[in-house]
Amino acid sequence: QDMFVKRGIALRPGQILKLEEVEQILKEYKIEIEIEEEQQTSVEEVDEFELLEKRYQELYEKEKDKLVPRPPVVTVMGHVDHGKTTLLDRIRSTRVAEREEGGITQSIGAYQVEVNGKKITFIDTPGHELFTEMRARGAQATDIVVLVVAADDGVMPQTIEAYNHAKAANVPIIVAINKIDKPNANVEKTKQELVEKLGLIPEEWGGDTIVVPISARTGQGVDELLEMILLVAEMNEIKCYPEGPARAVIIESKLDKKMGPVASAIVKDGVLKVGDAVVASNTYGRVRNLFDDNMRPIREAYPSQPVMILGFEDVPDVHSNVYVVESAEKAKEIVEKRLQRLEAQKQSRKHINLEELMKMMQEKEKKVLNLILKADTYGSVAALKNAINKLQSKEIELNIVHAGVGEISTSDVMLAAAVDGVILGFRVKVNNQARRLAEQEGVDVRTYSIIYKLVEDLKLALEGMLEPEE
Ligand code: GDP
Repeated sequence: QDMFVKRGIALRPGQILKLEEVEQILKEYKIEIEIEEEQQTSVEEVDEFELLEKRYQELYEKEKDKLVPRPPVVTVMGHVDHGKTTLLDRIRSTRVAEREEGGITQSIGAYQVEVNGKKITFIDTPGHELFTEMRARGAQATDIVVLVVAADDGVMPQTIEAYNHAKAANVPIIVAINKIDKPNANVEKTKQELVEKLGLIPEEWGGDTIVVPISARTGQGVDELLEMILLVAEMNEIKCYPEGPARAVIIESKLDKKMGPVASAIVKDGVLKVGDAVVASNTYGRVRNLFDDNMRPIREAYPSQPVMILGFEDVPDVHSNVYVVESAEKAKEIVEKRLQRLEAQKQSRKHINLEELMKMMQEKEKKVLNLILKADTYGSVAALKNAINKLQSKEIELNIVHAGVGEISTSDVMLAAAVDGVILGFRVKVNNQARRLAEQEGVDVRTYSIIYKLVEDLKLALEGMLEPEE
């Protein structure tokens, strides 16, 4: 109090002191402070697309009785050469009733088939990178994953990777054991590997994983696989909100010489119509034409239906959501506002690093640290897992989302971005693309050449004392 009086500062309740006054006084007490400039936030903080997205979340919560079942959307994953493409081709060629004269129609990125009067949509670019990237962008399109494992090769590194991606997304998995027509096919051994390497126990062995032996080449077992997809779809109550403005997710986009910007999308809710005003990623437009998966013009597209959209001003980002808004003017306004805000936020990072994560966890109740491990050999992976599991404590769960052999790739970065996790590499490189992506996404990637150092860092992080990486 004296201090204030001495300086002629009158004290009133609720009075706000000037910065210099505070500094002066604290100096007197030999307390040093650092003053942080407050960030200028002239642009609105709310993401316009988040608001649009929220509209659907609310509909899903408040109007449950209006939700109706929609066809499942399926992604096929698995190790290279295990038969993903062959399976997708086989299903399409035998199931698409009306085919264009002269055979093969151009793919729009997904197709729909009918099985016993029910529809199933297949995304026809197989692979888990796409799947996880979509998730990291908040635009999940897949309801069910079919994990293809060749019966002559068994569970391989990319099988494990694909499985971990699907598991992290909480998407139900059906295993298709493929190539059973081959003389060296071993279905039993493959099942054994599912148990040992993935912890998936087939139903017939008392577990809850549906496993269907198939041959994508001869078609054997494929009908049964399709029936199983419908069964899993029914069990998981895959639904949509059928009324109101449509929402869709883009699975492919490009600039076509003749048609201009084109985007292939799968409708999630509502009915997408010609003439609708739409926004997606950094662009907007009015739907000029719609084409179905056989490239036939249509006026409307329904939930889970793949559709090609023409009419965007620019090429929208692949894997982003499309929202229908009330007018073309509104669409333009939303996107312009969003671009302004994104520009202003460019500096701030989207995902978190190990230190921030620790800080956040100190405030959270359930503390889980998601880790993606990459190492030079299987032996190293096992050693790392072992060392990390020893660090498990009651307070913090170390969750290994994926552990694999090989350099750190974009797929690892997308997975980390999707689960807000951290990538730890042991005696492996980060490839250039992955490094750039990690920077863009703000994913923390750390590499080590000594196990001890890695463990030490994790320990420090767990104690909340980790020094930021320079
Ligand atoms: P992807 O890399 O997983 O898409 O695998 P592909 O579909 O390209 O198949 C890889 C190879 O395996 C091709 O030569 C296919 O013809 C072959 N293949 C796929 N499915 C089967 C099958 O059920 N039986 C046999 N014998 N070969 C198959």
